[in-house]
Amino acid sequence: TSGAAVTAEMVDDLARKHFSPCMRNLYERLKRDHHMKHFGRLQLGLFLKGIGLPLEEAVIFWRRMYGSSMTDDKFNKEYRYNIRHSYGQEGKRANYPPKSCQQILTTNQPGTQDSHGCPFRHFSPDNLATFLVSSYPTLDRSSAEMRDILDSVKNSHYHVACTRVFEVTHGLKKGDGLGKDGETVSHPNRYTERSREIEAD
Ligand code: SF4
Repeated sequence: TSGAAVTAEMVDDLARKHFSPCMRNLYERLKRDHHMKHFGRLQLGLFLKGIGLPLEEAVIFWRRMYGSSMTDDKFNKEYRYNIRHSYGQEGKRANYPPKSCQQILTTNQPGTQDSHGCPFRHFSPDNLATFLVSSYPTLDRSSAEMRDILDSVKNSHYHVACTRVFEVTHGLKKGDGLGKDGETVSHPNRYTERSREIEAD
């Protein structure tokens, strides 16, 4: 979406500070498992392209994340093509855009082995709370904010819950949204873009 190029080296720091919960989850899972299924790779890969990770850096990033779980030969044969494809360099050469919340919430529903999707929509309330407190140390499990978040989820207002996480983790008040005209979360790339802008302010 914005600005200067992002390198493979920078992703870990950006993930910790600025990724939306869905992308944070995907990244942590990839880091832990050195493996990711198709829709997860697609959701995270297009997001990374959107934050400014160029193709060459994307190849470095994914090769590193798979690590020794995969030979170079396998990586080159099965994965390099897919990465290049998602950057519009193979096949139809389509420039696939990063997925919006709406797409993530409603298409390709994840199964139990999958890590793609939206944590607010696709995790059990208990797993969601555990994930949130481990990913965002400023969020306390027994806080009023957490109750707010879980209430929004119960009412299927997933983007409201996600916006509340953004507010709490960026020192913003309820209703401030992404810190600009009360804008709420509708796209993971926008979430990250606003988070980086707030840090730079
Ligand atoms: Fe990601 Fe959107 Fe869900 Fe937030 S509401 S976690 S940005 S899909």
